[in-house]
Amino acid sequence: IIMMGQAEHSKITTCAYCGVGCSFKAEMKGNEVVRMVPNKDGHANHGHSCVKGRFAWGYATHKDRMLKPMIRKNITDPWKEVSWDEALNYAASEFRRIQAKFGKDSIGGITSSRCTNEETYLVQKLVRAAFGNNNVDTCARVCHSPTGFGLKQTLGESAGTQTFDSVMKSDVIMIIGANPAAAHPVFASQMKRRLRQGAKLIVIDPRTTEMVKSPHIQADYHLKLKPGTNVAVITALAHVIMSEKLFDADYIAQRCDTESFEHWTKFVLKPENSPEAMEPITGVSAEELRGAARMYAQGNNGAIYYGLGVTEHAQGSTMVIGIANLAMATGNVGREGVGVNPLRGQNNVQGSCDMGSFPHELPGYRHISDTTIRTQFERAWDCTLNPEPGLRIPNMFDAALSGSFKGLYCEGEDIVQSDPNTQHVTAALSAMECIVVQDIFLNETAKYAHVFLPGSSFLEKDGTFTNAERRISRVRKVMPPKAGKSDWEVTVALSNALGYPMNYKHPSEIMDEIAALTPTFKGVSYKRLEELGSIQWPCNDAAPNGTPTMHIDQFVRGKGKFINTQFFATSEKVTPKFPLILTTGRILSQYNVGAQTRRTENVHWHNEDLLEIHPHDAEDRGIKTNTLVGIESRAGHTVLRALVTERMQPGVVYTTFHFPESGANVITTDNSDWATNCPEYKVTAVQVMPVLQQ
Ligand code: SF4
Repeated sequence: IIMMGQAEHSKITTCAYCGVGCSFKAEMKGNEVVRMVPNKDGHANHGHSCVKGRFAWGYATHKDRMLKPMIRKNITDPWKEVSWDEALNYAASEFRRIQAKFGKDSIGGITSSRCTNEETYLVQKLVRAAFGNNNVDTCARVCHSPTGFGLKQTLGESAGTQTFDSVMKSDVIMIIGANPAAAHPVFASQMKRRLRQGAKLIVIDPRTTEMVKSPHIQADYHLKLKPGTNVAVITALAHVIMSEKLFDADYIAQRCDTESFEHWTKFVLKPENSPEAMEPITGVSAEELRGAARMYAQGNNGAIYYGLGVTEHAQGSTMVIGIANLAMATGNVGREGVGVNPLRGQNNVQGSCDMGSFPHELPGYRHISDTTIRTQFERAWDCTLNPEPGLRIPNMFDAALSGSFKGLYCEGEDIVQSDPNTQHVTAALSAMECIVVQDIFLNETAKYAHVFLPGSSFLEKDGTFTNAERRISRVRKVMPPKAGKSDWEVTVALSNALGYPMNYKHPSEIMDEIAALTPTFKGVSYKRLEELGSIQWPCNDAAPNGTPTMHIDQFVRGKGKFINTQFFATSEKVTPKFPLILTTGRILSQYNVGAQTRRTENVHWHNEDLLEIHPHDAEDRGIKTNTLVGIESRAGHTVLRALVTERMQPGVVYTTFHFPESGANVITTDNSDWATNCPEYKVTAVQVMPVLQQ
């Protein structure tokens, strides 16, 4: 599709879409991209790519790009284009005014997994050092925050354990709540190659995805569970493994905390955790639960890959813990071909978490209350840090509605579209006095903003992204920033305007600072990245070339810790008024809220979100494929076109969330994970009815 003439020069950079992190050669003519060619030397993709990375980069030069800073006193006023200095000084003076009136904690910042590591690091530094509080959060809050929590508790590190290439040594692949064929296509192809070589496949998903059944792929077990019952399934699998003595006793004795193991064993062996007891809860037969557990435990190398179908639940963190329990019990952590592997939806989810953008953690997942660590940062940053964790994104909204949170710096994140219960989000934004949005487009959140700072696309900046396998790769500036500044330069300028000086000439200096303050990044520098191509952290004196497989001799926390996973049904229940469960996911050609892919050729391949519904539910309601249907939940109402398909199970409907007009998040509730507040996007009770057309 994209053939725009002969290239004159090229640069290697990294795809800015999903967490596979494919390497591309950006072929250029002058300052224009001619084509993106997958890099055969790319460590994550080995010359492969998908339709997003290869074709969907034209948004960077789309006519909707905003290239001028703008301000307005009230959100009902028209925008006024101003100079960078005027916009930054206005934002800084408003933030300081708010803090003088409402207190130091009345403002905060949100960063995005779309940003580079260096940009994210700067945003959290700005909030902690220049704002003087810890009210910083990232959009990982709404996707993989339970991964950070669950893996840290059990294994000791908030990250996946393997390289993608490791799957070629797996004998059993278990996919839970993920559809890599749509969301991580290049890795899905690698997985399929291994399946064609004979590896076994277990899929745990309420929907029949392409990974369950497609040409050349047929899952050995598809546990088609009811949404919201993940923890019941994983606990039943653990029950089988323990009751049938399929666990790896030597591994557990050597590697794990035996006291926690004994406690957990007693818990999982309770009769109420048996497959037979869980069958009516999960909708999965005891026979299938037993068969899948045996296949995973007895299959030599068993690898688990999971996605947002695990994390975006009221028990998201419990489920991550349950996955780690299962892997440890069967000795499936610490070598190639095994492991616990979160599939990160966005390019830099891993990096944005690594860089300290959660309110309770400094870079490298060190708690803000740790005096020794905090003192190191205070010395390096020449400031005093608050030892108390700050507000998470949903807490910022609640505080705004109660009148104590009045200002927000939001970089690269469209919270109005991305966060659940849109009405709650917009009410909170409307209650604030200064919202600064930094983005490449005038997004939905900008409708509530007072200052707009034009952002830069991945083609306009230097930096690094960290993919789902902890692989740090260079992002290289292939064209000058269209609005005159790269995103990192904007944050630096805002900090300077706030009176907290930041002096960096290039993002490599930011990485040097990260490396000096973060043990897992100690050996990372742009020079080493040039030499090695990419680096998987930890990279330090013990592992100067990085760490492809984690937890080889021992877990990062020392002994692996088992934690009980008591199942609780979500409070989001079906009723006669809302008898169906809505769950959500992605499609191959589009990406998240679609801000980028909708502004490319990819929109022609998929230009609306559809509601998938089982034939029985459709027939009951007089719905056919292409019928316009109204979807009503306790939170709101929206309209979609129906697709009647046996991919769904009766009682469950499904949609993607790539088009703002479909308003998927208008109907999702504000239920969230008990540990991290990750929203429960995957379970919303709804009614679906045909729209009566005139
Ligand atoms: Fe980009 Fe992911 Fe596609 Fe690779 S698989 S080209 S990283 S969207």
